[in-house]
Amino acid sequence: MSSIIQLLPDHVANQIAAGEVVQRPASVVKELLENAVDANATDIKLIIKDAGKSLVQVIDNGKGMNVTDARLCFERHATSKIRHAEDLFSLHTKGFRGEALASIAAIAHVEMKTKQDQEELGTQIVIEGSKFVSQESAVLPKGTSFAVKNLFFNIPARRNFLKSDTVEYRHIIDEFQRVALAHPNIHFTFYHNGSEMYNLPISTSRQRVVNVFSGKTNEKLVPVQEDTEIVTVEGFVSKPEFAKKNRGEQFFFVNDRFIKSGYLHHAVMAAYDGILKDGAQPSYFLYLSVPPNSIDINIHPTKTEIKFDDESALYAILRASIKHSLGQFNVAPVLDFER
Ligand code: ADP
Ligand code: MG
Repeated sequence: MSSIIQLLPDHVANQIAAGEVVQRPASVVKELLENAVDANATDIKLIIKDAGKSLVQVIDNGKGMNVTDARLCFERHATSKIRHAEDLFSLHTKGFRGEALASIAAIAHVEMKTKQDQEELGTQIVIEGSKFVSQESAVLPKGTSFAVKNLFFNIPARRNFLKSDTVEYRHIIDEFQRVALAHPNIHFTFYHNGSEMYNLPISTSRQRVVNVFSGKTNEKLVPVQEDTEIVTVEGFVSKPEFAKKNRGEQFFFVNDRFIKSGYLHHAVMAAYDGILKDGAQPSYFLYLSVPPNSIDINIHPTKTEIKFDDESALYAILRASIKHSLGQFNVAPVLDFER
C-alpha cells in the first residue's frame, strides 16, 4: 500500500495555528501592541475601524526591521526573541513563540511598513492570506506600522462568528488597558473610527491607572509595596468602601505581563476578609516581579496563564502585604463594629 501521510503546506499550517492565536480582532490588537513594546517603542498608536473588523493598525517608534527581517517576520516560528529552549526561562520579552505574525497574515490582509534608525530607506510589504503581494523600499519614519484589514476574509465561518461591534470593541479596550497599565513609560494613543478614545502620556504607574480609568480613581487607591527574595509586589488596591458589584478593575501583572489567576485573586480577597460587604469586589492593580526562571509562561498560546514555582508562598506574601497596606490606611477597624 502507498503511504498516505503528507506534510501540510505552510499556508495551511499557518491557518490552523491562527485558530489558536487569533480568536477575534482583540487578539490582533494584543499581539501587535506586544510586538511594539518588545521593539522598545516609547510611542505607540492604536487605530481601529469598526471594532477592528475592518482595520487594526499599530504604529510604533521602536527599533524597526531590516529588509531581510521584514520578510522573515511572517514565517512561522520566526522570532528574534529566543534562540534556545533554555531562553524560555530567562524571558524579558512579551513574545517568543514567533507565530503571531504568520498567523495574522494567514487570515487577513496585512500592510507592513518598517524602518530602522540607521537605514536610509525602509521596507513596505503587503501580504494577504500568507501570499506575498508586494515588497518595496520606501521613505518611512523610524519604527514599524502594521495595518491588518479584513480579518478572517478567507474563513467565513470565523468572520460570521464575530460578535457585535460593541462586544468586539469591549474586548479591544480590555487588551489595550492591560498593555497600557503594564507600561506607564510608553505614550499610548487609541483611535476608534477616527475619534481619539485614549491619550496616555508617559507617567507614574499611579497616574497611568488614573488616566486609564478616571480622575475619581485616585482617592480610592491604597499603595502596596513588598520586597522579598521570591517576589516584589507593587501597585494599588482600592479602599473597601469603593468596592464594586462586578469584577471590572482587577489586574495582575507578572514581570510586566497581564495574567489571570484565580488563585492570586483569592489571596487578594483573603486580605479583605471581613472588611467587604457580601459579594463586593475591590479594584486592584498589582505588579509582581519574580525571577524569570521561577515561572513558566509557555502553558497557553495567549500567555495569560502562567505557572509559578512556589505558588503558596506568593499567596501568603500577597495576602500579607495587602492586609498591611489596608491596615495602614486605617480601613480595617471600622468593620469590627458591624460584627
Ligand atoms: P514573537 O513576538 O513571538 O517573536 P511575532 O510573530 O509576533 O513573534 O513576530 C516575529 C518577529 O518579528 C519578532 O520576533 C520581531 O523580531 C519582529 N517584529 C514584530 N513586530 C515588530 C515591531 N513592531 N518592531 C520590530 N520588530 C518586530
Ligand atoms: Mg509577538
